[in-house]
Amino acid sequence: MTPPPPRSLLIASGNLHKHDEIRRALPEGFAHLMVPSQLEATVGSAAPDPVEDGETLLENAIIKAQAFSIWSGLPAMADDTGLMVTALDGAPGVHTARWAGENATFEENMTKVLDQLSGVPTAQRSAQFRCVIALCDGDQVLLTVEEGCPGSITQKVEGSAGFGYDPIFVPEGETRTFAQLEAAEKDAISHRGRALRRFSELYQQFDLTGGS
Ligand code: IMP
Repeated sequence: MTPPPPRSLLIASGNLHKHDEIRRALPEGFAHLMVPSQLEATVGSAAPDPVEDGETLLENAIIKAQAFSIWSGLPAMADDTGLMVTALDGAPGVHTARWAGENATFEENMTKVLDQLSGVPTAQRSAQFRCVIALCDGDQVLLTVEEGCPGSITQKVEGSAGFGYDPIFVPEGETRTFAQLEAAEKDAISHRGRALRRFSELYQQFDLTGGS
């Protein structure tokens, strides 16, 4: 197999929606972005599936970036995202991915949040997404950034674009959910879009020449 090209950066996630958002947000020529499935044959083993048992988004982002970087030999960036709902004392927070159970679907997770907020009036449904991105080279943490997106939780599912909790989250200043926005509109204001723009500014300082 051909080795990855110089300045390769591995996206430490198997989530295709995240791959798309990351590719869209980072400038052309930023780095040669790789995803885990492209490297499995070269590395000779399946991509890792690290246990995200950190107590914070930061810890989990680092766990993922380190695991994928050590596996691949390339610098790796991971994002960890949480939805914090004020009326639920900040939950799901670090448990956002598995809020309705270990293998819960996006629908099951959204339904649980809507059920928990049943009877809570619109004015008291504030929430925010927080996104942490970590860049690791082996077990060395090179860079971390954190950004957020304030908004509120709808009374019902609205829209079908995006992923995760997008159909029940209305960003501040909008009347539509993330799942009703065009991709570019979400990128411009989302937690991940903001974190990626900050990440790409700071990334320029590293001379990462992964691969051979
Ligand atoms: P993780 O960062 O992959 O652990 O993501 C945690 C969970 O947050 C995902 O499974 C999604 O349900 C949710 N999530 C992450 N990013 C977004 C987003 O941009 N919109 C809506 N939900 C998201």
